[in-house]
Amino acid sequence: MAKNLRTEGCDILTLPVPEAATDSQTPLMRQYLAAKRQHPDALLFFRLGDFYELFFDDAKTASRELQITLTARDKERNVPMCGVPYHAAESYIARLLRKGYRVAICEQMEDPKLAKKIVRREVTRVLTPGTALDPALAAEQSNYLAAVHLAGEAAGLAYLDLSTADFRATEFSGPGATAQCLDELLRLAPSELIFPAARGPFGPKTDAATLDPLLAQVGTRTPVDDWVFSPDFAIPLLERQLGSRGLEGFGLQGHSAAATAAGAIIHYVRSTQQSEAGHVDTLRFYRRAEHLHIDQVTVRNLELVDPLFTDSGPETTLFRTMDACCTPMGKRMLRSTLLRPMIDAAAIESRYAAVEAARTDLIRREELRRALSGVLDLDRLLARISLDSAGPRDLLALAASLRHLPEVKKSAASLAPQPGSPLVSLDAQSFWANAGSLAPLDDLCAAISATLVPEPPLTLAEGGVIAPGIDAELDDLRSVGSSGRASIAAIEDRERRRTGIGSLKVRFNSVFGYYIEITKSNLSSVPADYERKQTLVNAERFTTPELKDYETKVLSAQERSIEIEKRLFAALRARIVENAGRIRRASTAVAEIDLVACFAHLAALRNYTRPRVDPAPILEIASGRHPVIERLMDEAGESRFVPNDLFLDASENTSHPNLLLITGPNMGGKSTYLRQAALLVILAQAGSFVPADRMTYGIVDRIYTRIGASDNLARGRSTFMVEMTETATILNTATAQSLILLDEMGRGTSTFDGLSLAWATLEYLQRHIGARSLFATHYHELTMLADEFPRLKNLHVSVSESPQGIVFLHRIEQGPANRSYGIDVARLAGLPPAVIHRARQVLKQHERSERHNVAVETEPALQLTIFTPLSQRILDRLAQTDIDTLTPLQALNLLEELKTEIKG
Ligand code: ADP
Ligand code: MG
Repeated sequence: MAKNLRTEGCDILTLPVPEAATDSQTPLMRQYLAAKRQHPDALLFFRLGDFYELFFDDAKTASRELQITLTARDKERNVPMCGVPYHAAESYIARLLRKGYRVAICEQMEDPKLAKKIVRREVTRVLTPGTALDPALAAEQSNYLAAVHLAGEAAGLAYLDLSTADFRATEFSGPGATAQCLDELLRLAPSELIFPAARGPFGPKTDAATLDPLLAQVGTRTPVDDWVFSPDFAIPLLERQLGSRGLEGFGLQGHSAAATAAGAIIHYVRSTQQSEAGHVDTLRFYRRAEHLHIDQVTVRNLELVDPLFTDSGPETTLFRTMDACCTPMGKRMLRSTLLRPMIDAAAIESRYAAVEAARTDLIRREELRRALSGVLDLDRLLARISLDSAGPRDLLALAASLRHLPEVKKSAASLAPQPGSPLVSLDAQSFWANAGSLAPLDDLCAAISATLVPEPPLTLAEGGVIAPGIDAELDDLRSVGSSGRASIAAIEDRERRRTGIGSLKVRFNSVFGYYIEITKSNLSSVPADYERKQTLVNAERFTTPELKDYETKVLSAQERSIEIEKRLFAALRARIVENAGRIRRASTAVAEIDLVACFAHLAALRNYTRPRVDPAPILEIASGRHPVIERLMDEAGESRFVPNDLFLDASENTSHPNLLLITGPNMGGKSTYLRQAALLVILAQAGSFVPADRMTYGIVDRIYTRIGASDNLARGRSTFMVEMTETATILNTATAQSLILLDEMGRGTSTFDGLSLAWATLEYLQRHIGARSLFATHYHELTMLADEFPRLKNLHVSVSESPQGIVFLHRIEQGPANRSYGIDVARLAGLPPAVIHRARQVLKQHERSERHNVAVETEPALQLTIFTPLSQRILDRLAQTDIDTLTPLQALNLLEELKTEIKG
């Protein structure tokens, strides 16, 4: 590795950061080392003029990670160094943060031109993966900083997206608290987790071997001082941050574990940002049971927000399929709603009513969506402004967005059905009518537009940001500048006449200030009071005492006016931060309106229908379609998706099916049918219409899936182990209100083991859980379970057979598949004809012996026979025989029977 670095011939790779300053170091290096000692765990970006420089090991790390050249400074030949231009630093820093590094920014605290000795420098903020505002972060994505606090039986979890001030906390208690907390943490996938250094994220009791691979899915793990997590420190800090409402106002009363975790987050943010983070002024405490719970495995399996296989891109996700939102806030709300759909029937119904009203009114809906498109990311703009990393253009973007609010409000309110319309329902009235109360922020918008010029420069440094007429002194100082142009013209004119040089020019540049330029041919006419400044090829540049005076006056006017501009800008910024609460309320209202408009738009576009909520735990779907596959097929112009029906009823005291067992060949559509059921429930409980002719359902409390092999294999657990862990979770925690999908369970182990486990699992589901379940399997043998369990219903995916081979119809039909078609599928896949032929022969023989065995067996308790190996069957048979009660004749018969079986 070291060989690849360009070292400019000096021995710099072996030098560690010195322990202490020594006399041989330059003052600059001593200053650097002092700053570095305060932030040993961060890469220190040290501002030197137009660059941020890194030294020692930091330089080596950065040069490796950023592919930038490693060099050394002239004065410290043996110190490795690399740097990035300050104006391009943001993207380099973002790359380091994404790789999990921390970055400390050490700025010049005074103007180098004015500094007497060495320029004063200070670390102004520390950027960490969980607290940085990454400009490349997609609108819908969140960047969470999380904290976990364990207190006795309780496990508190808090997390904050600083870029949107989305701040939430929850708490688990009882014996499973830690495991539930961990699952919730993994589901969030925060980019940084802070925890007390001495205790570790999940306390000393938790087994590191199981925890570490899981926590590897969380981004950076940052240990902080233990006292940060003490309730006495953290809770009062949180109270101060959230202001007067007190913790009860946020539902945190009695949840000190969650409050402590939240307080620790506030401390961490304040200390790294060196800012109060005033926009973080509210927190939402939630309980897991307030939402349809979708565990982390299921979120992945169903590709709700991320694709299962990263190479397939985001197109296969439900989020992408449903994202017709016009604003970043709407997109984020869609994403979080798909991850935590509702479970409150009344709230769900009122969403449907609102969607319906907007669905039927194309013109007003489009008007609304047009207005929404003008609203930029209010949350992120507010965060930048409040963390003081916003420029003048960010403020104008905020103003431009606020300007669209009245229009959003007006067109949203126009969607409230008029009295007398057939659509009038109280709910639609209240959602769209409420939209009319979206508080406008005209005052703020006006203040911003009035204070700033319409097209300001990027930063405050050059001046020219504040509009004329705002500050009298500023206007005066500026007129020095503009009257200056007139005086320059006057000086130029006078000097031309005095010297008789017609080509004489008075000019300004940033290095030499004001000067008089005279071409070489005229040098003989230069008066004695001209002072030479610079020689060019064709000309000489001079100055005069008058010009020097003038320069000082202009430059000091400029400096003073920039100072005033900065003050006015800060005041405007403070005014915006004071209104943070109002801005965020508007932002939430916009997000909700946008989401409902999106659902309405898609319902109209794709013929989605309004689901019906039923009090009974049923799931009835007529002509349901898989939303993602249907969309992808439509976009590709392929043949249409084949709709399918589904009926499940988990009520007690009925004989309706509560478990569907789907058999049939690979590629037949089993997995699609399963996923489709879950996706429709998720959409329905998110408040969306669904791709089906009709859907009636009882609210689902949790969705479980066990689907396919996931890439956990790479993390060192075998597919089979993962599968069994997931199945264990389902069997241990599902309720009668849950929806369970088991796809190809048992595939990861030997056929007999797998089949036995699948069999036992199905029995358990029937006897002890009784939830709405779908089970897809290639174990044809399982279809026999229908004889024992009347509520288990066999379905199969249909194929049509022709001499050319089989064709998948993707239709789900009643009854078990009549055979397994494995060899037909293999033929479609292009296996050589000789192999296919031989496989058919083997299969025939096998089936013959199997049939024979079934005929021999009569004991119902031994139904497993058909797939138990012969030796095991004989052993079982012997073990079950009670010799004490056996007559000699029976014993002989048994022997005879066993012999026949062996001959098979
Ligand atoms: P299985 O689980 O039975 O092996 P899958 O559900 O994985 O089958 O489906 C196999 C392929 O068939 C998928 O590529 C899918 O897009 C397509 N497919 C499945 N169901 C349908 C359907 N109802 N209409 C159209 N295509 C479908
Ligand atoms: Mg499948």
